[in-house]
Amino acid sequence: MNKIQRAKKILKILNEIYPTIKVPLKSRNVFTLLISVLLSAQCTDVNVNNVTKKIYPRYYRPTHFVDLGRKKIEKLIKKIGIYRVKAKSIYNLSKILIQKHGGKVPRSFEELEKLPGVGHKTASVVMSQGFGYPAFAIDTHIHRLAQRWGLTNGKNVVQTEKDLKRLFPKKNWNKLHLQIIYYGREYCKARECYGMTCKICTTCYPKRKKIVKTIKA
Ligand code: SF4
Repeated sequence: MNKIQRAKKILKILNEIYPTIKVPLKSRNVFTLLISVLLSAQCTDVNVNNVTKKIYPRYYRPTHFVDLGRKKIEKLIKKIGIYRVKAKSIYNLSKILIQKHGGKVPRSFEELEKLPGVGHKTASVVMSQGFGYPAFAIDTHIHRLAQRWGLTNGKNVVQTEKDLKRLFPKKNWNKLHLQIIYYGREYCKARECYGMTCKICTTCYPKRKKIVKTIKA
């Protein structure tokens, strides 16, 4: 089976297992989505949701966070990893959104990636989940699965993004990003892989006889 055939099988299996998919990070507008994605770096979505559910009912606009100031933002998010750095980014990006974008989140990769604490992955999630723009955000989990499934040579996330975009139709990218994340959490975990147990590998590699070495992302 070549890469294109594997990609087709994988898409079919993921659509069967996850016909509908929920966005795991809770938010109340595009701005709070941006904040949640920023907070989720090196932190679980559950942890982020637990913290933000106490914040977003009161604070959900850039002006709210500028009025709070850095120290108060730190207090609100201190249960989240590297909270000082993240509080600084939230405060500074809120100021920039007010000064340069009329308090709105910009709808472009270029402008999003200029914001403090916002890299290409965060921008991709905001573009896809916030604005419905086709994007394929690649985190370490998607990178790992794409390597294991033989969809990329997996040198880095930039290459993985290019390879996955070539292999899957644009209309599937946004949903696929979440489906792969869910599959990774449920079946294709970082430490557990035998290469012969899960549906994707038994389908794509039916002749496999030996346990495969796990490739770490
Ligand atoms: S066997 Fe399962 S855990 Fe291993 S690569 Fe395949 S899908 Fe992932």
